[in-house]
Amino acid sequence: MPSNDRFSDRTIYNAFILLCPLCRSKQISKLYIIERYKLPFKVDKCKNCGFIFMNPIFNNRMINSFYDRDYYSGNKNYSYHDERKISEYSNFVWEKRIEFIKKYKDKGNFLDIGSSFGGLLDRAYKYFSTYGIELSPYAGNYSKKNHGDRIHIGTLDDHPFKDEFFSVITMIELIEHLPDPLSSIKKCYNLLEKEGLLVIQTANMEGMQAQLLKDRYAYYMPGHLSYFSKRNLILLLEESGFSRIKVFHPVEFGLMPKLKKSRYLINSPSDYKIWLKITLYHYLSKLHAGNFAATSSMVIYAFK
Ligand SMILES: [Zn+2]
Repeated sequence: MPSNDRFSDRTIYNAFILLCPLCRSKQISKLYIIERYKLPFKVDKCKNCGFIFMNPIFNNRMINSFYDRDYYSGNKNYSYHDERKISEYSNFVWEKRIEFIKKYKDKGNFLDIGSSFGGLLDRAYKYFSTYGIELSPYAGNYSKKNHGDRIHIGTLDDHPFKDEFFSVITMIELIEHLPDPLSSIKKCYNLLEKEGLLVIQTANMEGMQAQLLKDRYAYYMPGHLSYFSKRNLILLLEESGFSRIKVFHPVEFGLMPKLKKSRYLINSPSDYKIWLKITLYHYLSKLHAGNFAATSSMVIYAFK
């Protein structure tokens, strides 16, 4: 079947995107069709800026269904871990991230976009006034237990927050879920106070890991609409007004919190080999220069 016909069913997909969502170039070409999920999807790549994006994206009804209760319970073909089950382990990573952020901003209003069940906000709460934006009512309503109405169930398009209100905004594995990251980054810029900090964690599709695995790279999944490289994400941030941009490979903190977090995976002595894997990955990630990076993990800090 010609690839376009496969993705023309409007009960599942939106219309095809004709211009690069990042640089508005018409020079886009087919990259992969991802077949390993019940619902297949196609990703294209912009020849001008290298941005990779799902095309067409799933329609809103489909996308909302990705974030219901079943999405977190593993009952779906495509699902996410329910972070509450491993929160005592994830806390090692969240604590370290907050500690690192405090080097730059140690008080003020803190917004986590894609705040899920509130794991990061629960750690930030000691130092900051915490706010969240979460698309999933299932996850977001749970986090209201600790953060009340400061959790907005919705998106960056319909939130109640005022410009220049936040000292820190975090988007941890969130930006890849957004259909229009260009306008979302501009909204973050407006929401931040002068010299406010934006933290983004996402994959670098120009990393060797993504390049070698091609369509088998695990980051290609139905909820991921936007796939960046280090290069075009920095460009997007600069064009949106951000400066003092710092990139960390694989993350801004060391190996130990990741090893501690992975303890939930260890049930027998042979499971300790996961530590070897995580350690190797961590140090392999340190191999990077210019646009080259051995792995595809990155965290970016940018200032208004
Ligand atoms: Zn482009």
